[in-house]
Amino acid sequence: MIIDCHVHLTRGGGTVAERADGLVHFADKFRIDKLCLCLGPVGRGLVDRPSPEVFRDDNDKVFEATALHPDRFIGFCYVNPVHAKESLDEIDRCVADGGMRGIKLWCAVPCCDPRVEPVIERAIDLDVPVLQHTWLKITGNKEFESTPDDMATLAQKFPNAKLIFGHAGGDWEYGIKAIRRYPNVLIETAGGNPEAGFVEMAVREVGAERVVYGSDAAGRSYASQIAKVYGADISEDERVLILGKNMQKVLKL
Ligand SMILES: [Zn+2]
Repeated sequence: MIIDCHVHLTRGGGTVAERADGLVHFADKFRIDKLCLCLGPVGRGLVDRPSPEVFRDDNDKVFEATALHPDRFIGFCYVNPVHAKESLDEIDRCVADGGMRGIKLWCAVPCCDPRVEPVIERAIDLDVPVLQHTWLKITGNKEFESTPDDMATLAQKFPNAKLIFGHAGGDWEYGIKAIRRYPNVLIETAGGNPEAGFVEMAVREVGAERVVYGSDAAGRSYASQIAKVYGADISEDERVLILGKNMQKVLKL
């Protein structure tokens, strides 16, 4: 089973249905079975610090897409920890009551911020993973964007959380080194160019059981992203773990 743990409704048509159909259509070409879907936006740009109205709307779009392809999409609930009560209520609506299976955090606040803690505690209670966007940009990060060191701080605070290190920090050599000592963190391959050596280094440093494939489609192509895993000099057993078996276990599929 191939599971892409990181896709969005970012491109590919005007409506939620057109975008959802596009994601599934191209996933078929790569035999990707399941797509973890979070975050629109549909009909507007991405908002760094979304209001509760905005993140609820994004989650509604994910529900709409999931209802169209229930066998393919797995919803992840997007929240902004700055709005604590609204975020926890939204996790109840989407995950506890709505069937979503994970939580997505983007650039609302660095993940080392104490305001993130109640969200992680709720994820631990519900036994769902948290996919945290991270990037270390040579041109400078967005104001509230999480770095690999922020992720390490979060990982240290919550040894029982299932944390997914989105994009492996972008600068993956730095990122892998920053989090390798935390067994509660999965290294995720989405985004960026398909550079040689990334997946090999992740497997060497933390073992294939802690590496998961994601694409960041439709912002990135499945082809460029899954190539990182297919092109890596690793064993077939390791490839199977990274492409889906690890996420299957995390999501209890
Ligand atoms: Zn993304």
